[in-house]
Amino acid sequence: MSYQYLTQWDSPNFTPANQTAQSWGVNRQIKEIAIHWWNAPNSGATFEGVVGGFLKPGGLSAHYVATGSGRRVACLVDPTHNSWATGPGNPYTISIECDPAQSDADFDVIAELIADIRSAYGDLPLVAHNKYVNTRCTPYDLGRLDREARNKFSHATDWGKGGTVTAPTPKVTAAQIAAAYLEVLERTYDQGGMDTYLGSGFDIERIKNELRNSNEYADLKVRKAQASQAALDAAKKAAEEQARLDAERAERDRASSVADAAAQAAKDEALVLARENNNLLKQIWAAIKRIFNLGA
Ligand SMILES: [Zn+2]
Repeated sequence: MSYQYLTQWDSPNFTPANQTAQSWGVNRQIKEIAIHWWNAPNSGATFEGVVGGFLKPGGLSAHYVATGSGRRVACLVDPTHNSWATGPGNPYTISIECDPAQSDADFDVIAELIADIRSAYGDLPLVAHNKYVNTRCTPYDLGRLDREARNKFSHATDWGKGGTVTAPTPKVTAAQIAAAYLEVLERTYDQGGMDTYLGSGFDIERIKNELRNSNEYADLKVRKAQASQAALDAAKKAAEEQARLDAERAERDRASSVADAAAQAAKDEALVLARENNNLLKQIWAAIKRIFNLGA
């Protein structure tokens, strides 16, 4: 993806870098990106109207005015100089006036602009206007802008007034990107990712590396590790259950052999008793025969 980068309008409202100390007592030092919205959402203010306002002498300015509507970014003041947008934050900030509609397309264009600014000026944090001035500007979700910006690929080398946005020549096909999604993230691609990588100018190995560096890939690895742990746990539980069943069977076998042995002992005992009885009867019979002299 990309956006129209409009540099034909120059705001007269700015402080040149070499006059920063005279105005604010410090030199120009770009440390942050100040996010603004250009008015309340129901104000009816348009991109053209806001740009026009910043071109009027004696008014205010911003380095950039950005909207997802038509994917447009106007650079009105070169970021080397101080725009008049953020009060005492002006010496430290690059300012973006954002479409207050806060549509997904607005987020997408602003995030791409942030990625482009960072490619030129370093990993600048995002701050709201109200860090420096007590104002309702801006309710933009800076965390979301930051996350989206970190998924963008800058096409820029110069993000000042001389900048241009040129989509690089793709080094990959849509089919290769689709295959990379399946291989790395084990799912079909999403359109946003497809558009981003087709426009990135990256080769397929770089794209796979980017996918492997994503939070989604980290989550996937955690889920797979958890799934294999669950399988291990289930196997361990099954083995324990089998061992318990084996132990029960062995115990039953032991108990029944004890009972068999007891029954055999009882039988043996009965036999012994029977033999003894028999002997006793024979002795009695012999005694009777002796007493009555019945002969041998
Ligand atoms: Zn503001």
